[in-house]
Amino acid sequence: MIKSYLMVVKQDEKSQNIANILKEKLNGILEYNESEPDLIISIGGDGTMLYALHEYFHLVDQVYFIGVHTGTLGFYTDYLADEIDELVADIKKGEYTINKRAVLDVEVIDENGTAQYYALNEMRIENPHYTQVLHVYINEEHLETFRGNGLCISTPSGSTAYNKSLGGAVIHPDLEVMQLSEVAGIQHNAYRSLGSSIVLGKEQTVTLTCDRFDGVFIGIDQYSYNLKPFKKINVSLSSHSVQCIQYRPLTFISRIKRSFIS
Ligand code: NAD
Repeated sequence: MIKSYLMVVKQDEKSQNIANILKEKLNGILEYNESEPDLIISIGGDGTMLYALHEYFHLVDQVYFIGVHTGTLGFYTDYLADEIDELVADIKKGEYTINKRAVLDVEVIDENGTAQYYALNEMRIENPHYTQVLHVYINEEHLETFRGNGLCISTPSGSTAYNKSLGGAVIHPDLEVMQLSEVAGIQHNAYRSLGSSIVLGKEQTVTLTCDRFDGVFIGIDQYSYNLKPFKKINVSLSSHSVQCIQYRPLTFISRIKRSFIS
């Protein structure tokens, strides 16, 4: 039973106004709780939802997420700014389904230990300055030595984001898989990698190693960090998932259509 909520709001005037109106309308229906909410409402865009997720990842197993978009509709947002009354009515009615969204576990292992990250869209290793060489292993078996700008490993939710721009497949979010896609891979007679995306499952871990680290960075959703020399990076599907609450039916196909086709 959902009793409490908190809001994560984009720092623009429109989003702040919508948040104030929503807070007023939810008065007496749900309690505002900063530390242990049942529901997190993001108000802004897909980036705000990603921010909310990272900010409250420690609650991910016990909290539901929902998004209100204050611009055009996004991928993680079910309501528009002018649909606040519908959202309040739906919360009051209390009929919903939960869609679990896969998350990636990313371990960066160096001499000092292991740094752990979680990604809802994708993790990527990229180098805008030099050709990046990456040795790719699947369950410790060597797949290829990649050369190019980098590699991107995405979740099904992230398959419609950066992965899609890389020519990767759009994957239904009900599938528990991850997709490895190339960023400008070099393909010629001296160097060759797979050249297409590869979809992997729960039983697989992708391990990346490399020999040269100048200019290389790691991207996790909307964040990026310079990478210090690392021994290896392990990427696998996490045992955690993000629980997106859905009050009204909105199929994956209709999300794709409204975002990319019509
Ligand atoms: P941003 O403001 O640069 O937005 C990038 C766009 O990606 C926005 O239109 C956003 O709505 C959209 N987006 C985010 N997640 C999505 C998803 N799961 N499916 C479809 N579209 C999605 O950055 P942001 O809003 O903070 O989002 C960060 C994401 O931007 C990254 O995780 C990455 O996937 C994406 N991105 C894409 C490209 C590209 O396509 N060339 C480049 C950089 C980052």
